[in-house]
Amino acid sequence: MSDRLRVNPITCEAHGLCAELLPELIRLDDWGYPIIDQAEVPPELLELARKAVDACPTLALALERAPAAERPGAPGPPRLPRIP
Ligand code: SF4
Repeated sequence: MSDRLRVNPITCEAHGLCAELLPELIRLDDWGYPIIDQAEVPPELLELARKAVDACPTLALALERAPAAERPGAPGPPRLPRIP
């Protein structure tokens, strides 16, 4: 299972709260907007990532599950039968 953090750049207002709560994965640029260092959230940081998402005042930070096809060991998309 892999989850990743995403920031909506339209709704983010550069409060910086997310970087305070999760400095292991989020740092701020010169204007206070978050930069996510890792695409995938390690399992040991998942709970903190959820807290950062819940604390975002503009709901700009989200935790998303990677699509099944991108998860390691996941089966690929269904194959369609070939038409002769
Ligand atoms: S807490 Fe939300 S609004 Fe503030 S910098 Fe992080 S993503 Fe943007």
